Amino acid sequence: MRETWQERFAESPDCLKSARRRQTTVPVLDLEIGCGQFVTMAGPCSVETEFQLMASANHVRRAGARILRGGAFKPRSSPYAFQGLGLEGLKMLARARQESGLAIVTEVMSEEDVPLVAEYADILQIGTRNMENYSLLEAAAKSARPVLLKRGMAATVAEWLRSAQLILDNGNPNVILCERGIRTFETAMRNTFDVSAIALLKQVSHLPVVADPSHAAGNCELVPALARIAVAAGADGMIVEVHPNPAKAWSDGEQSLDFAAFDEMMADLEPWLAVRDIRPPSRRKTAQALSLVAVG
Ligand code: PEP
Ligand code: MN
Repeated sequence: MRETWQERFAESPDCLKSARRRQTTVPVLDLEIGCGQFVTMAGPCSVETEFQLMASANHVRRAGARILRGGAFKPRSSPYAFQGLGLEGLKMLARARQESGLAIVTEVMSEEDVPLVAEYADILQIGTRNMENYSLLEAAAKSARPVLLKRGMAATVAEWLRSAQLILDNGNPNVILCERGIRTFETAMRNTFDVSAIALLKQVSHLPVVADPSHAAGNCELVPALARIAVAAGADGMIVEVHPNPAKAWSDGEQSLDFAAFDEMMADLEPWLAVRDIRPPSRRKTAQALSLVAVG
């Protein structure tokens, strides 16, 4: 007889849907991720300058993003590449939140940095290279911030769910799974976007699932198509790289959308979202988020 999903993912029981738990919604400021909306997180790969970050924040907010992304601690493929601004970058992100009302998602790379990053971020991002860094996962879980857990670039869905289970086991229910592409024999794209993992997780897990079309594609021309596919697969949102001048970006410029391309992608997604009965976030909600930040 065919193995059930429950049997296949038996090591991650708390990640699986049950009669008691159909869907987890993760609260982030005034937002909820996983409640049937499609939440867009957008911004530069790396925080570079005050101007670059503020211009990006204001632009992506106007185009419908609800969360600002930007790395202050960067895991780079080369040890000689830009490693991020660290604390200075976190401070810029906090100022961008203050000014734009957008929540902040940013990567934390080491266990020791968790308290610092958690002070500034609304969501802690665990990068693909750290999906199996269990001491980091434990520290991130204990920070009580929601955790965006990217799939390891060579991790199976079962391994990915085991990492999610470890976060749940450490008392943090607010896990968001992020499919960002995996390594396969195909080299034309930076990674292979495993859309079947999104469909599978939406079927078996109650945790919200978001897509990262930017790191999956590695090329800005493919990003809108992958975003569309993520919507069709039932993703709860996406995280996407946007830069005011991608040609001059300090990291991942080739896969970053410029402002015009981001606007076009967001507009083009509307009919696809409408098929799922999702409407773009209203202005009122954005205004509410701004007042929430101002008083809080
Ligand atoms: C990023 O989000 O910029 C990043 C480094 O992502 P990943 O860990 O998926 O490579
Ligand atoms: Mn990047």
